[in-house]
Amino acid sequence: YRAARALTVSPRVGPNRVQDRATEQPEAHEHFVNTPDTDTAVAANRTWGRAILERSADSDLGRQLVADSAITKPESVDGLVAATRAAQPEWGGLSAQERARVLRVAAASLRAAREELLEVMASEAGKTLSEGDAEVSEAADFAEYYASLAPELDDLGFTPATLVLVVPPWNFPVAIPAGGVLAALAAGASVILKPAPQVRRSAAVVVQALWDAGVPRSVLRLADVAEGDLGKRLVTHAGIDRVVLTGAYETAELFRSWKPELPLLAETSGKNALVVTPSADLDLAVADLVRSAFGHAGQKCSAASLAILVGSVAESERFERQLVDAAASLVVALPQDPRAQMGPLIEPAAGKLLDALTVLQPGERWLLEPRRLDDEGRLWSPGIKAGVQPGSPFHRTEAFGPVLGIMAAGSLEEAIELQNATDFGLTAGLHSLDVEEQELWLEEVRAGNLYVNRGITGAIVRRQPFGGWKRSSVGPGAKAGGPNYLLGFGDLAPFDLDA
Ligand code: GLU
Repeated sequence: YRAARALTVSPRVGPNRVQDRATEQPEAHEHFVNTPDTDTAVAANRTWGRAILERSADSDLGRQLVADSAITKPESVDGLVAATRAAQPEWGGLSAQERARVLRVAAASLRAAREELLEVMASEAGKTLSEGDAEVSEAADFAEYYASLAPELDDLGFTPATLVLVVPPWNFPVAIPAGGVLAALAAGASVILKPAPQVRRSAAVVVQALWDAGVPRSVLRLADVAEGDLGKRLVTHAGIDRVVLTGAYETAELFRSWKPELPLLAETSGKNALVVTPSADLDLAVADLVRSAFGHAGQKCSAASLAILVGSVAESERFERQLVDAAASLVVALPQDPRAQMGPLIEPAAGKLLDALTVLQPGERWLLEPRRLDDEGRLWSPGIKAGVQPGSPFHRTEAFGPVLGIMAAGSLEEAIELQNATDFGLTAGLHSLDVEEQELWLEEVRAGNLYVNRGITGAIVRRQPFGGWKRSSVGPGAKAGGPNYLLGFGDLAPFDLDA
């Protein structure tokens, strides 16, 4: 099913400076089977899921590992870096085939840990089962896929980095740390994983699964380093050869301000729009918009933040009503409630997100006003605002929460202009059944992941390599889950180029 879903997508290559080399590689990974998600049509799986959610209310998983990995002193940062570097020859000295074998075991180990991973993600990240389930599948896919790529590196005469630091975000507490770590390991590097503070236990369960699979503990280290001076010491440490960051563009800028020559592989912010033209299957467009805007409460770099409606779609009361009704029907609840379709925010809404949820700019009006459903401000019903104006804050600023803005465009060309008129270029969508419209759009839109007649979140490893243009990417720009990604972890990637 995951593979079939992927076929609706146009696989577009980004401004990927290491692309040419890889397109010449033999496609050893041509036949690749993605890990299926749990089938919730099977009654036994629903019973299994409910038990996980019950346990997640007071889950203790990963706690001890996190406690053991706490780094509290500057000397401990230095010691950790030195020890993890020293361990690399043991791992990098294996043949790529041997490392690939361990990674395949790691894929099985991650799949076997699905239950624990779902429990801890629901517990500390507020992930619903279905959102968490896709992450576990994706993590296992990264292991299998990078295992399939590793042997090609030997043929290229590739020398791996010695030590890679992985700095993941909190919104994908399993798939993103696993992806960075597994890529570095496949390339032959040692790795330090610094988990996001909100979701350290999920990272710990991932690391344990990889150790269980045979990745040496000395080669993969979990380092719970507080942000601030110690974090800066780690990121800028001379012993770190690559930093894999997924997070806000501002964080990449901050890292670069600390150390301008930092070899950064970063996937950063997005302001993503889905265009709907009059020739679209409008029912499908509604469903995809709702999923893309409100999945994980909009807390995805890939989320649809804008719907750009072309011509008669913008005028269509029926479309508007369907969209609003579909969003309003989402059950918003903590993930421990098995009915939950949209879970909580990781932290109470504040700053830009609170503004997006509560403030209307000139021209805007609520089609569906978000409501705060708890005292804390973490549970919000979905919001839809119409009348978002070109160049306004909501047009150009990432909200990272459950708000969708609607813009109107007179033509597809105008819609594309609006879609391109942000500093970011991560995901972009088009709903249109007209082949000429599709071709025009594919030619003109400036984003890393382009999706036609599909939602714009949930990139599938190997089928939709994930990464952005413009301020959605910093570094050589190879896409995660794509054929060039591993090159960034060795001596062949052009780090002297700016994104
Ligand atoms: N890879 C995820 C997706 O395609 C998004 C990752 C992110 O939000 O950082 O939905």
